Amino acid sequence: MSPMATKRCYYEVLGVSRTSTEVEIKKSYKKLAVANHPDRNPDDPDAAERFKEAAEAYEVLSDSSKRQVYDQHGHEGLRGRSGGGAGFTDMNDIFDHFGDIFGDMFGGGGGGRRRSSGTRGRRGNDVRTKVTVNLNEVAEGCKKEIKLKRNEHCSSCEGSGAKPGTSPATCDYCDGQGAVVKSQGFFRMQTTCPACNGEGKIVRDKCDDCRGSGFERQDVKLDVAVPAGVEDGMQLCLRGEGEPGTPGAPRGDLYVDVQVKSHSMFERQGNHLVCRAPITYTQAVLGADIEIPLLDGKDTLTIPAGTQPNHMFRLRNKGLPELRSGRVGDLHVEVKIEVPKKLSEEQERVLRELAELEHTEVTPHRKTWFEELKSYFTGEE
Ligand SMILES: [Zn+2]
Ligand SMILES: [Zn+2]
Repeated sequence: MSPMATKRCYYEVLGVSRTSTEVEIKKSYKKLAVANHPDRNPDDPDAAERFKEAAEAYEVLSDSSKRQVYDQHGHEGLRGRSGGGAGFTDMNDIFDHFGDIFGDMFGGGGGGRRRSSGTRGRRGNDVRTKVTVNLNEVAEGCKKEIKLKRNEHCSSCEGSGAKPGTSPATCDYCDGQGAVVKSQGFFRMQTTCPACNGEGKIVRDKCDDCRGSGFERQDVKLDVAVPAGVEDGMQLCLRGEGEPGTPGAPRGDLYVDVQVKSHSMFERQGNHLVCRAPITYTQAVLGADIEIPLLDGKDTLTIPAGTQPNHMFRLRNKGLPELRSGRVGDLHVEVKIEVPKKLSEEQERVLRELAELEHTEVTPHRKTWFEELKSYFTGEE
């Protein structure tokens, strides 16, 4: 089993219920983050673990789309998104990620994200894109090539933003730290250096190609593994496939929204497929073998004599695999009896003969109906 199996439930970690609101979740997380903050617990190594655990739980539960995936599929549903067990390997990731929350807790609203030394720079931006798959691909799982535009480090200046041959100068104001630190009571207050915007460096001669930004737009092709059983609206995460940060800092992540195309023959209901097959009145009455579609071909379905309208036939294991368990659902074939709107002379003649017969040989349901109707009209009970 994966290390996910031993992970605690995120709701349990944050001490909130499954129906908690965003505000309640944020409040609870803040409380935990303050209590377990590494600055406050220098002698307790477990505090850092609890701090990370809470951050990971908060990362998921504070994001409505991730929370939805987690609610439906648990830790396994977020596989890949959290790097196989430890959501944040580094404290700085946490500070970078929840800068705005820590801003009001530790940073005093300096507009920014806290970083430990300024030398780590800024983590790259996350990128979001989408991939469309059809039901056959959902059944098997697939590799899809996706194309996107994202920033990469400028090839001329390698991301420094400085004209090739020159290099950025260390910021005098913060001494290259990127942040200015004040002590106030219990907490260290850090704000982003106003002179260098937290970069720790100042570019005097800007690179011509990127005008000092350090980035250039690039077209990128990537293979994305789409797991079997994926559902419309789910999001995959490719860690580290977002945009690069400042040199030395971690890259952002790539989020891929999955769109499942509708199918002309099948409707999806969880891991079951539903197919509606039209049959004629005589096929229902007399029984027939009809051809039905499967995702990977076709099959013959025997309709027994006397089949009722909208009857559903269940074909085991002809549906889709479930994302987590891999358990394959069924194919439900619902028969729809089609009443012809036009008849040939011959058909009409035969049907009228049949109608005559029906008049003399009444079926059991109609018999009861006529009796009830009679007593209804005559007012008898
Ligand atoms: Zn450049
Ligand atoms: Zn500075």
